[in-house]
Amino acid sequence: MSSNELRQALVSSDKRYVWHPYTPMSRYLAETDPLVIERAEGSRLYDVDGRSYLDGNSSWWAATLGHRHTRVIAALCDQATRLAHTSMAGVTHEHGAELAKELIAVAPPGLGRVFYSDNGSTAVEVAMKLALQYWSQTGFPQKRRFAALSGAFHGETLGAASVGGVDVFRRPFADVLVDCVFAPPPDPRAEQEPYERAFGALDELIRTGHETLAALVIEPRVQGASGMRFYDKAYLQAIQRLCKAHDVLLVVDEVFSGYGRTGTFWAWDGMDGCPDLLCLGKGFTAGTLPMAATLVTDRLFEAFLGPPERAFYYGHTFCGNPLGARIAREVLAVYRDEQIVAKCAPKAAKVAAKMAAMASLPGVGNARALGMIGALDLAPGGSYLGQVGPRMVAEARRLGAYLRPLGDVAYVAPPLTISDDDLEELLTIFEASVAFALGV
Ligand SMILES: *Cc1c(COP(=O)(O)O)cnc(C)c1O
Repeated sequence: MSSNELRQALVSSDKRYVWHPYTPMSRYLAETDPLVIERAEGSRLYDVDGRSYLDGNSSWWAATLGHRHTRVIAALCDQATRLAHTSMAGVTHEHGAELAKELIAVAPPGLGRVFYSDNGSTAVEVAMKLALQYWSQTGFPQKRRFAALSGAFHGETLGAASVGGVDVFRRPFADVLVDCVFAPPPDPRAEQEPYERAFGALDELIRTGHETLAALVIEPRVQGASGMRFYDKAYLQAIQRLCKAHDVLLVVDEVFSGYGRTGTFWAWDGMDGCPDLLCLGKGFTAGTLPMAATLVTDRLFEAFLGPPERAFYYGHTFCGNPLGARIAREVLAVYRDEQIVAKCAPKAAKVAAKMAAMASLPGVGNARALGMIGALDLAPGGSYLGQVGPRMVAEARRLGAYLRPLGDVAYVAPPLTISDDDLEELLTIFEASVAFALGV
C-alpha cells in the first residue's frame, strides 16, 4: 500500500467511525483533512507520508519531555514484561508505593498523601469530592459549594466541568452542574492595578460566602484552555491567604502548569504556605500514559481515619496503574538528572523575545510569555469559535508545525526539551502563520 492509499484508508475509517473531541463534526466530515500521524520523536510528529511537524503544543500539553524519550520508553518496555496492571485494593506494588514517596518529596511542603487516578479531570473530581466529604466529617456539612475563576478550565467530568468557566464547555450542562460561584480573573490588560481589583471581587465572594463554600479551585499562574491568561504570583499568594483566613480549602490544579511549564517545577513554587489539595496529570507521565494524582495535606487525610463510614469510597480501575507509576517515576528521575527545568530558562527567554517582537504586528494584541508558553490574541475579544485560528493552523501545517489556537488566541507550548534549532524553527513558523492568518 502506498502512503497515499494508507492515508486515505485511515481517514476513511476515521470519518466513518470516530467522534472527535471538541470538534464540530459536520465541519470536520465536510472540510477537515486530518493529519495522519504515524510516529513521533523528540519535538516532531511524523505523518504517514514521512513529513514532519514540530509539535507546537506538546500534544495537548502533555509531552513535556518530547516524544519517545529513551529512558521513558525503556522503563515502559521493561515494566510491560513484569506487571502491567493490578488493583490497588488491598494490594500495593513497587512503583505505586515509591512514586508516592518521591512525589511528596518534590511537592510543595505540607502535602503528605497521594490519591491516584487516571486523567486530569478525575484528579480534580477527586479533589472536589474529598473537599465535600472533609467538611461533612469535620462538622461543617453546610459547606457544599465551590468557587472558581471565570474562564477556568479543570476538565470535563460533571464535577470538574462545574468549576470550569469556559462558556462553550458549560452551556449544554449548565442546569445540572454542581453549585459554583465565579469571580473574574485578573486582567493584565486593565490599566489600573488589575490584580488588586480582581482580588477585591474574589475577596468579597469568599468573605460573604465562606460558610457554604467547600473549596476554591484554581489554575495557578496560567489559565490554559481559556486562552493562556497569565496572572501574577502576588495574586496567587493573596488567594492562598484569603482561603486560609476563611477556612475555604484551596485546590491548586497543576495539571497543565506543573512539571516546569511556567518556568518553575510547580507554578506554586515560591509561595508561602501550602495548598490543601494539588492536582496533576498531563506532564505526570510526560504524555506517555494516562495517569493522574491528587495530593493532599495530612490534616485533610486524617479526617478520613477512624470508623469505616469515614472512608473515601472512591476509586478507578487504573488507579496507580503499574505501567503509569513506573513511567511517572522515570519522568521524575529524568527531570532531576537532566535538569529539565533549569535548562529550559534560555529557551523560555527565546519564546518571550519572539512574543515581544510580534507585539507590533498589526492585528496582534496582548503578546505575552510565561516559562515555555508564548501567546497572543489575534482578534479583539477573540472567541472560541473564531475564524482567524483555522487559517493559522493550515498555514503552520504547510510550513511544518502542528499548532492549534484556542479560538483566536495563538500560542506555543512546546516540549521543554525542544532543541534550540527546533525552537527557532517553530517560532519562525509561528510568526509566519500568524502573519498569514492576519493577512499582514
Ligand atoms: C487538561 C486539563 C485538565 C483535564 O485533564 P484531562 O486529562 O484532559 O482530563 C484539568 N485541568 C487543567 C488545568 C487542564 O489543563
